[in-house]
Amino acid sequence: MSKPHVLITGGAGFIGSHLADLFLARDYRVTAMDNLITGQLTNIEHLVGNPDFAFIKQDVTNFIHVAGPVDAILHFASPASPIDYLELPIQTLKVGSLGTHKALGLAKEKKAKFLLASTSEVYGDPLVHPQPETYWGNVNPVGDRGVYDEAKRFAEAMTLAYNRYHGVETRIVRIFNTYGPRMRLNDGRALPAFMCQALEGDAITVFGDGSQTRSFCYVSDLVEGIFRLLNSDELEPTNIGNPNEVTIKEFAEEIRDLCGSKSEVIYKDLPSDDPKVRQPDITKARRVLEWEPQVDRREGLTKTLDYFRKELEKLGRISV
Ligand code: UDP
Repeated sequence: MSKPHVLITGGAGFIGSHLADLFLARDYRVTAMDNLITGQLTNIEHLVGNPDFAFIKQDVTNFIHVAGPVDAILHFASPASPIDYLELPIQTLKVGSLGTHKALGLAKEKKAKFLLASTSEVYGDPLVHPQPETYWGNVNPVGDRGVYDEAKRFAEAMTLAYNRYHGVETRIVRIFNTYGPRMRLNDGRALPAFMCQALEGDAITVFGDGSQTRSFCYVSDLVEGIFRLLNSDELEPTNIGNPNEVTIKEFAEEIRDLCGSKSEVIYKDLPSDDPKVRQPDITKARRVLEWEPQVDRREGLTKTLDYFRKELEKLGRISV
């Protein structure tokens, strides 16, 4: 019997490429599709030559064609860091709306399962803490982050409409802050910014007073949760993230100390609509998927630091 075939849009991205590795390791064939505006070929170069892997350079907001059978489509294409979606607002809106529509159309055509990468951003600046899936959120539709938040909210609605109207078998994962190797050094998110600054001996830029919180999940835990969700019967959105919450100030200091760096922490303006708190309620993932994170922050940060050191060394940028 031939191996099941999964299409990953955004397959050259940080999370998409880790998903490609996981599915290949579990005996799937994988096609990664990416237009490379935020994805990077270096994330999948180790897969070139693997007969079960293919790459298609394409923008998923246009009609998508994939030859032969497809068993599952994982729709992960999107700019995903606040700086990226500030710089690419129209592309962000288009990939969440038109791109989701195209990917769902392909799923319908191929009778494939469809899994949408949604986000904790659907909860906006939350007034309920921690955030369960039943919370409808507090999103500013016209703020800087609105292009991402609203596109993903639309994508969720579209996904369930294809389930209800066309009978496509759909899943929705709401991904909370995730980190690990293959994050882009300059994607502007807290972890890459802090690690590069600490390793290069630059000042560490905390936005606001650093009292805002996030809960960081190591990427291997995330992709395991997504794999289980795809193979479950759960139609409604499901949070996947690590509930271990930390203030951004503590997070900056933790990274600086782990890097053995003497960088000072400096404070800059808080971007607009920056959520004050964020922590996933993962009761449902525990119950339905029997999933919970296995990698604690110390271990995950140590592995991520190895990657950042190597990347900065290649660029000749390291100083500590
Ligand atoms: N942040 C920061 N310094 C940076 C980058 C981000 O203090 O150089 C803050 C940001 O304002 C937010 C938190 O870190 O409060 C997490 O930001 P990130 O961009 O990683 O993701 P978000 O969770 O906001 O989508």
